[in-house]
Amino acid sequence: MGNKLLLMGGGEELGFFCPGCEQYHSFRFRRIETKDGPLWRWNYMNEKPTFSPSLLVNGATEKRCHLYVREGLILYLDDCWHGLRSQRVAMKEEEADPQVLALLPVMA
Ligand SMILES: [Zn+2]
Repeated sequence: MGNKLLLMGGGEELGFFCPGCEQYHSFRFRRIETKDGPLWRWNYMNEKPTFSPSLLVNGATEKRCHLYVREGLILYLDDCWHGLRSQRVAMKEEEADPQVLALLPVMA
């Protein structure tokens, strides 16, 4: 119930559905193989995920999508190409991904 994230990118990325672009985007949150590139901080929550800093997709193109994910909401910035710019939207619920669930802290 309430799962928002899917494990992607060889286990290094957490994906979520972007209703503005109508496709999945992902945050790279850990390195499994040694590669260059930025990592995002994740709050280790699946139902109300927060990532920082912001995510910029297709930044140099006309299909630019720029957003924050905060506590299960997508906060679109005003430089997005699509109609959800400047809006906040609840993340799409996903089937539970056992690989994501395995990453979560164990609740006492
Ligand atoms: Zn998008």
